[in-house]
Amino acid sequence: MTPLTQPGHYHDIARDLRLPTQAFIGGKAWSAVSGRAFETVNPATGAVLAVVAECDGQDVDMAVAAARRAFNGGAWSRTAPEARKAVLLRLAQSVRDHAEELAVMESLDSGKTIKDCLHEIGTEVPTFFQWYAELIDKTFGKIAPTAPDTLAMVVKEPVGVVGLVLPWNFPLLMAAWKLAPALAAGCSCVLKPAEQTPLTALRLAELASEVGLPDGVLNVVPGDGETTGQAIGRHRDIDVVSFTGSTEVGALFLRYASESNLKPVGLEMGGKSPLLVLEDAAISDDLVGNAVNAAFWNGGQNCSANMRQIVDVRVKDTFLERVLAKTRSLRLGDPLDPETDIGSMVTREHRTRVLGYIDQGRREGARVLAGGGPTAGLAGCFIDPTVFDGVTPDMIIAREEIFGPVLGVIPVDGVEQAVAVARDTDYGLHATVFTKDIDRAFDVAHRLPSGTVSVNVFSEGDVKTPFGGYKRSGSLARDNGTEAMEQYTQTKTIWVNLKTG
Ligand code: NAP
Ligand code: MG
Repeated sequence: MTPLTQPGHYHDIARDLRLPTQAFIGGKAWSAVSGRAFETVNPATGAVLAVVAECDGQDVDMAVAAARRAFNGGAWSRTAPEARKAVLLRLAQSVRDHAEELAVMESLDSGKTIKDCLHEIGTEVPTFFQWYAELIDKTFGKIAPTAPDTLAMVVKEPVGVVGLVLPWNFPLLMAAWKLAPALAAGCSCVLKPAEQTPLTALRLAELASEVGLPDGVLNVVPGDGETTGQAIGRHRDIDVVSFTGSTEVGALFLRYASESNLKPVGLEMGGKSPLLVLEDAAISDDLVGNAVNAAFWNGGQNCSANMRQIVDVRVKDTFLERVLAKTRSLRLGDPLDPETDIGSMVTREHRTRVLGYIDQGRREGARVLAGGGPTAGLAGCFIDPTVFDGVTPDMIIAREEIFGPVLGVIPVDGVEQAVAVARDTDYGLHATVFTKDIDRAFDVAHRLPSGTVSVNVFSEGDVKTPFGGYKRSGSLARDNGTEAMEQYTQTKTIWVNLKTG
């Protein structure tokens, strides 16, 4: 969806927005049993946007009970595939119809640019609901080869009640990545948005209810991680958890599962992704645009941000000169202005953390060529896009996830060194390689231990292609593609003796 450019359009929408403030359980708005509530803040201005119900274990219990009732009742889990498909297609359309409202809500709650929010919510989120809706009546079970007196069927069943725990960087898109396949499978869901960004998931639940999703199939429980997230992780009547967030918290979900009902846990976690510019790469506008986008898209608050840019010394000077020019052309500021390229960091604390990494880089001896601090003249949580040269693989800024607008150039000599540096990380979510040599491109793609490798473009793939991490970036579970259905289905064998008389 292309943003409108007349001034004030999105501010006008913002002024008239009704913001959801209650949890959503059993098809209804729900105040937290404790009566507690928390403020959600617009990080670009510091203004309190809304005071939202703060769920705890008691509310999670109610949500899981509603989800279980819905699942056992069968109005969603055992309904005809065509019926589930029709509801999810209506939901896709409803999100399209409400895209501006949802996008403005998302931008206010997160500091993300309206340009990105409109694309994610107007285009990508509906695509996810539509694609999985279309998959529902095109997925078949199997009949195994057996003797003629036996019938052995292999069928897929919805796994039951799933807990979905989400990060703040792509709030509604990550909700759609998980909800679309989980609902398509026939599961009931208990979803916890990040406490920084609870609003759009709550509004989505209202829209889903309006288009006919049965009560209790989608429950949204805003609250903080330690309380609400942990209650989901430890709940004995949740069959599966799918989590996206940091590696540290992902590890906690494994502990919660092992100390409760051994539920399977799908983990999509952090990254420290490399972008390789090999000696033969043409330093074109296209390459430079991709490199800058790979580091600064969403203010660098992106799990697959390619912050480690591993550049051959033969092309490094040209690369840096053009990257710096492109970086200086980026517009920071009001996230609701459709011309803005980089919005605000999600919170003041997060901004402080990112600035700490930038100082760390300086102390370690990397050279700041652009940015390097807070944005002058802007009151919100803004940071200038920062380019470092002379990063070495052992520096903390080359090893830990920064999650902010930082691009670090690590100079290397030749393809073997480039691959060795790229592989030298605990993470394995994403990698990009630029080269004109197609043989080399495939060779490097196979040698990088990453869930996604993109060649001559920075891309995470799309709804059709699985997304997830090697090493400390993820479990074997994948979001997206038909692979995502594996997280939300059980495989059952039905072995039948046909010779009964
Ligand atoms: P986070 O701190 O790990 O939080 C993720 C979710 O877990 C939030 O809902 C959070 O709740 C909850 N949580 C926090 N502490 C918890 C605890 N002790 N027990 C149970 N739940 C808890 O991550 P984030 O800062 O929101 O997001 C950034 C991270 O997500 C980055 O590491 C990024 O790489 C990763 N990410 C990965 C992918 C991917 O697909 N691999 C995509 C996007 C982001 P509260 O917010 O309420 O604390
Ligand atoms: Mg907020």
